[in-house]
Amino acid sequence: MKTILLRMLILGLIWTGCTKEKDVINTTGDQQITEDQPISANLKAGNTSGVIMQAFYWNVPMGGTWWGTIQGKVSSWAGIGITAIWLPPSCKCASGPYSCGYDPFDYYDFGDYNQMGTTETRYGSKSELLSCISAAHSAGLKVYADIVMNHRAGGTSQYNPNTGTYTNTNFNPLASGMFLSGYNDFHPSTYETSDAGTFSNYPDICHKNPWVAANLWGNSNSVAKYYKGTMGYDGWRFDWVNGYSPAYVKSFVSSASGFAVTEYWGSVSQIQSCINSSGVSSFDFPCMYALQAAFTTNNNLALLSSTAMLCKSNPSKAVTFVTNHDANYVTTNKLLAYAFILTHEGTPCIFYTDYESELNKSALNTLIWINKALVSGTTTVLYADNDEYIAKMSGSPGLVVYINTSGSNLSRSVTTNWTSKTIHDFANNWGTNYSTNSSGVATIYAPAKSYTVWSTQ
Ligand code: ZN
Ligand code: CA
Ligand code: ZN
Repeated sequence: MKTILLRMLILGLIWTGCTKEKDVINTTGDQQITEDQPISANLKAGNTSGVIMQAFYWNVPMGGTWWGTIQGKVSSWAGIGITAIWLPPSCKCASGPYSCGYDPFDYYDFGDYNQMGTTETRYGSKSELLSCISAAHSAGLKVYADIVMNHRAGGTSQYNPNTGTYTNTNFNPLASGMFLSGYNDFHPSTYETSDAGTFSNYPDICHKNPWVAANLWGNSNSVAKYYKGTMGYDGWRFDWVNGYSPAYVKSFVSSASGFAVTEYWGSVSQIQSCINSSGVSSFDFPCMYALQAAFTTNNNLALLSSTAMLCKSNPSKAVTFVTNHDANYVTTNKLLAYAFILTHEGTPCIFYTDYESELNKSALNTLIWINKALVSGTTTVLYADNDEYIAKMSGSPGLVVYINTSGSNLSRSVTTNWTSKTIHDFANNWGTNYSTNSSGVATIYAPAKSYTVWSTQ
């Protein structure tokens, strides 16, 4: 009986520690975005802000080995042009050794205190984390922390006068002794009844409470200051900003500066509102859903031209991605989807599993090189139909990308930015060079289910 109960408890913990957002929130993902925007219009300068590696996937091996695994890869990632890594949330969580990090309990326990059934986190110990961060710095990489500040988990039960019930909002004591909390640090509090959203059934943090604001970013040992100053994090990825005012992201980043990106699910205009309030970058969910529709669900590359994306309307604030820890969004032609984000505006984020095991590593290395060497200026779509997409970037030297999802090698005559020049496929998928004529016109090719990226020699 006891064993069964214990097993059920453990299963419950595993479940809560690994609840993915797609399972518990209703995202705007299925909605068809209908805003039409010519890709050539309104574009600002293209991407020069580096390439991020998302350095984890859902349910990486347990047992505290992950920081060591990442440490072993940072110098090779730096060598192929990655400029920053995004680590999973690194503090002790309610589901202890099982947690993927999204149910934070003690923000200052990085795997150095025995609580929640473990000393190390799923990812390792504090010293292993510090060593991983310092190895990344030595390799020249920035390190972004995943900040979960919508909710907290693992508090014990206490009488809550704000609700008249017992709630799991007692975060005292904590082994770190830092950022102790009680019922009034959560909604409903005496400061505010609720905010933009709750996540699962977790106690929902009230940022309006001055104690919370002081501990998250205000005081000298706040989460923001400590993660930057003591742990060595250089920047931030904010989890589920749909759940609270993005203005609090601005407060956090004002206290500990660095690159920052919010996870905000919504349309281009909703994400732009988040950016206006947070002042920082945002993941380009509309781009990802367009890639999913174009390459996987609808098999229609014309959607890449017709769909509104953050990387088109606000390229300097767009972090583009194909897949992340929440779901494998683009399941077919995924390398071609990477060819899109790495030859367009925005800051591309590469997903660990795609790079390390699922896709052709040398093809991705080449695309990352292309992103660094050739992507600049603004994009003009030259041709798009269901199985072809051709676009050029205006920068110097600029590029022409040709994506082909059909089963045959295809060619098209296009007008490039180069007159009377020899052009070459820098993706190395087409061996022959061609020449543009005095009007810039050339015939370019793309192999079946592949892509080419043309530029001058
Ligand atoms: Zn998330
Ligand atoms: Ca909230
Ligand atoms: Zn076609």
